[in-house]
Amino acid sequence: MPYKTVHISPASPRQSRASVLVIYTGGTFGMIYDPKASGLIPFDFDRVLDRVPELNRLDFDITILTLHEVIDSSNMKPAIWVELAQIIQDTYDEYDSFVILHGTDTMSYTASALSFMLVGLNKPVILTGAQLPIGVARSDARENFITALEIAAAVDAAAVDEGGGLTPAKGVPLVPEVCVYFNSLLLRGNRSTKQESVQFNAFISENYPHLATAGVSIDYNRLFIRPYQPGQQLSLRTTLDPNITILKLFPGITQPVVESIVNIPDLRAVVLETFGAGNAPTDGWFLDTIKRAIDRGVVFFNVSQCEGGRVTQGQYQTSKQLLQIGVVSGADITTEAAVTKLMVLLGQEHDPAKLRVLLTQSISGEMSE
Ligand code: ASP
Repeated sequence: MPYKTVHISPASPRQSRASVLVIYTGGTFGMIYDPKASGLIPFDFDRVLDRVPELNRLDFDITILTLHEVIDSSNMKPAIWVELAQIIQDTYDEYDSFVILHGTDTMSYTASALSFMLVGLNKPVILTGAQLPIGVARSDARENFITALEIAAAVDAAAVDEGGGLTPAKGVPLVPEVCVYFNSLLLRGNRSTKQESVQFNAFISENYPHLATAGVSIDYNRLFIRPYQPGQQLSLRTTLDPNITILKLFPGITQPVVESIVNIPDLRAVVLETFGAGNAPTDGWFLDTIKRAIDRGVVFFNVSQCEGGRVTQGQYQTSKQLLQIGVVSGADITTEAAVTKLMVLLGQEHDPAKLRVLLTQSISGEMSE
């Protein structure tokens, strides 16, 4: 079934700077109050100009595609990541860039997953959403949407790609990677985390600098943006294995809890959420349980419960044995990136030893090696 789309022409067609595909997946962003239902319902993007008339003043082509089922992002699933990646691949030559409207709850997971699935990405994919629905007067939806579009369409006019592929070929994209734009900040998608559910500053990137800050002008932090790679082709990794789990440590965690987690049928990998710089209890039963699972082929990826800083296995006596039994350090990766990296790599690699090596390498800037 073809997707429902709406097209918005640029303010002055002769000066169109770019063409952007917007993919609407759902979330708070697109909600309006329906007096009949006495509640918030998703609004119909056919009428998007009624809600965001500013779109008419932008000088680029915008096509808005709505997924068949719009969802609260708490219902996000790997199958929808595959669908999003496929839409991007199918339309890659038609558009200069992509904006994904997404609920905030799992936006960082989707951004991380797409950063691993879109191999050789050379165009901007900017995820954004809102804390307040677009139908509410004080909503942050308009600013987030318009600035995400501006960022998606931004080009470096001094660096024209002779090979073409850009319409019009006025320069190369400034931000050719998967990002989250929210509340004036552009973040690398696989470095972002949702930190706030009430204030507008929903996302942070503790371990990587902001890629841009939007004030009166949009200031790009060019040193930290992945550069455009001439001639790079897009391909997809679309086999994801969800047989993973997160084991979050806490003082007093008991043996039956750890055992029941590591003995989940078909389990292939565990994100081990440790304390501080990657530390864990040194009780014999704990280390033995993990070691037995590793010997069976389950891969453990050590990610800190701290938002900032990094895992350094061996720095403290409480992490030395994790290193010795073969737990892989996640360095400064986020839990969102660790979960999705595991799903994607498990879909490619079946040998736990090889997987452990792949995990230590950065795929798309998600961790400092
Ligand atoms: N529950 C919503 C979602 O993630 C929250 C939001 O959009 O901000 O879809």
